[in-house]
Amino acid sequence: MGRSLQRNLRNSFHGVLSLMGDYMANITLQNIDKVYDNGFRAVDQLSLEIQDGEFLVLVGPSGCGKSTALRMIAGLEAISSGDLLIGDLRVNDLEPKDRDIAMVFQSYALYPHLSVRDNIAFPLKLRKLPKDEIKRRVDEAARILELTDNLDRKPGRLSGGQRQRVAMGRAIVRQPQAFLMDEPLSNLDAKLRVQMRAEISRLQHTLNVTTVYVTHDQIEAMTMGDRVAVMSKGVLQQIDTPEELYNNPQNTFVAAFIGSPQMNLLSGALSIANGMATVTLGGVTLTLPPRYLAEHRDLAGFIGKEVVVGVRPEHLTECADGDLNSINGEVDIRESLGSEVIVYVKVQAKQVHMSNTENTSADGAIVAKLGPSTKLRPGQSATLAINVDNLHLFDAESGFAIR
Ligand code: ATP
Repeated sequence: MGRSLQRNLRNSFHGVLSLMGDYMANITLQNIDKVYDNGFRAVDQLSLEIQDGEFLVLVGPSGCGKSTALRMIAGLEAISSGDLLIGDLRVNDLEPKDRDIAMVFQSYALYPHLSVRDNIAFPLKLRKLPKDEIKRRVDEAARILELTDNLDRKPGRLSGGQRQRVAMGRAIVRQPQAFLMDEPLSNLDAKLRVQMRAEISRLQHTLNVTTVYVTHDQIEAMTMGDRVAVMSKGVLQQIDTPEELYNNPQNTFVAAFIGSPQMNLLSGALSIANGMATVTLGGVTLTLPPRYLAEHRDLAGFIGKEVVVGVRPEHLTECADGDLNSINGEVDIRESLGSEVIVYVKVQAKQVHMSNTENTSADGAIVAKLGPSTKLRPGQSATLAINVDNLHLFDAESGFAIR
């Protein structure tokens, strides 16, 4: 974010307060279903409680139902069954305009023939607010969003980022109970997207308005959300803080979807002997730390069964051949990113493939994030130590994490 915009946000706290309505609200979804006319179930028993002032991100691969969920909150799509509450009020049957929610879309939906001022003022004119009140709110929003100098321009003469800010301005002057945003940054180039990500986060935290933000981009979700709800095929998989999602994914879908490069998922067999648990993957036996058994009460039920072993790329390090808890293979690909090197190593262990995660997955190879000094090159053999303190184990049948 530009320095002056940051300063504006900081200095404009009084302005911001005067831009806010008197009330803010929780949004509650209780067992919401969406079945389209053709019988397709796009959202299945979705229950969420979005706290007052919270920034909640709905994330998932294309077609998982996140936009449908958002559109039901907005009132743009009918709810097939279940209850939607804003504050204590059941709003299933309220018209969108009566829900007191402002929506920001991927296409900014600005009127090209109107000036920036008139674009921002549009919803207020519709509501026939007094002229001086409209001017006050538009000036304040423009100041916060650094658009003051552009108020008389037409949108066609603005940059993508500025247009997105105009769309934000139009949302905030309404003083809504909540913002709903559907992939608002996907039209921007990568650099601007990162910048706007930070701007929207900061603006949301300053305004403290309940916000539901939809994206398919897990990095956007992780960097912006107070909490992140991960969806797949219409079903909520997990809702948690970004840290919890990363450190304790509840199932293999979340494990594979969150994190880049994706977590390695390998097929293993579990044994327990003399109070020690081991997993065997393709000829390699890993010994789990003693506390693992105590901390994972359900583990004993998986003795002799197939489990899925999850290892994040950063939990693999180069080591000497024959070291304890290590895995061997041949380097397939090396990607130098400057501060780190990603290597793909072909190993014996069988990989568990997750379809529909849209994440980078290496076929027949495990992926490791190594330091920049690694000398490993394609064709060379590599031995990687697996940090067993950070192993994830999942039930191979259900995909659920073994707790
Ligand atoms: P994307 O990121 O691609 O927009 P999404 O997660 O937002 O995906 P939705 O737009 O919510 O997904 O769509 C969820 C599913 O519902 C998709 O499989 C889509 O094809 C289907 N769908 C959407 N609208 C309709 C409709 N009007 N009739 C039937 N099916 C629909």
